[in-house]
Amino acid sequence: MLKGKTAVVTGGTRGIGFAVAKKYLDNGANVAIAGSRQETVDKALAQLTAYGDRVMGICPDLCDPDAVAAAFAAVKERFGSLDILANNAGVSSRTSLYDYTLEEFSKIIDINLKAVFVCTQAAARLMREAGGGSIINASSMVSEYGQPSGCGYPATKFAVDGMTKSLARELAKDHIRVNAVAPGVTKTDMVAALPKEMVDRISAGIPLGRPGEPDEVADAYLYFASDMSSYVTGAVLRVDGAAMN
Ligand code: NAD
Repeated sequence: MLKGKTAVVTGGTRGIGFAVAKKYLDNGANVAIAGSRQETVDKALAQLTAYGDRVMGICPDLCDPDAVAAAFAAVKERFGSLDILANNAGVSSRTSLYDYTLEEFSKIIDINLKAVFVCTQAAARLMREAGGGSIINASSMVSEYGQPSGCGYPATKFAVDGMTKSLARELAKDHIRVNAVAPGVTKTDMVAALPKEMVDRISAGIPLGRPGEPDEVADAYLYFASDMSSYVTGAVLRVDGAAMN
């Protein structure tokens, strides 16, 4: 479904991002995995040797426009284009308002929101030149309901939905589609870091009766990256088993 296309997947070293990178590779794309550290990028690449020279690693500071532009230019140089951007990197938080430090709040805003803006701007410049592309943002089911602690996290995901819907309208004229995937509870390190009772409580309330698998979320990323969604832009697709928070 993606033969001849090139994708950048931020936070592609593990969890949902790694599943997305693998899904894109399995569907014929060239993939650049963007991670926060060379060491984790190398570890992920070591698990993808079967894909040969169709995969590479980058690790720019995702909030630094110059570093991101240089890294994306290197991807284009290596593979010839940049057609798909999966803005997947993200961090979670459950901190109570009373305990939140401005530093922690800023970190969430930086990686979950500012990085989405920086990467989208750099990728859209290349996509516009090339005649189009597809950008997929990581939202969350909490962008609908909020959550009872860690207010910074849902704040960023509401903002990601707003940016998705706005940029879908702004970039349509450049044939760049912008959509978001809103996972529910998905079995990754982010969820493993939550207290077990919390995960059990959340899972019990999921109509489909279980957390999602990263690969199931990656299917939605494939849909938005491919021509299957050629008339879809500005959508936020929930992949959450109909979870109600
Ligand atoms: P994860 O913690 O397993 O992986 C997060 C990825 O983001 C890692 O690859 C990590 O290296 C990367 N990352 C974090 N900070 C970074 C930084 N400063 N620079 C570059 N990369 C950085 O998380 P996940 O569960 O796979 O989540 C992926 C995305 O899906 C996130 O945006 C998250 O908010 C969203 N999401 C996850 C769930 C879930 O239940 N797992 C639910 C809803 C939304």
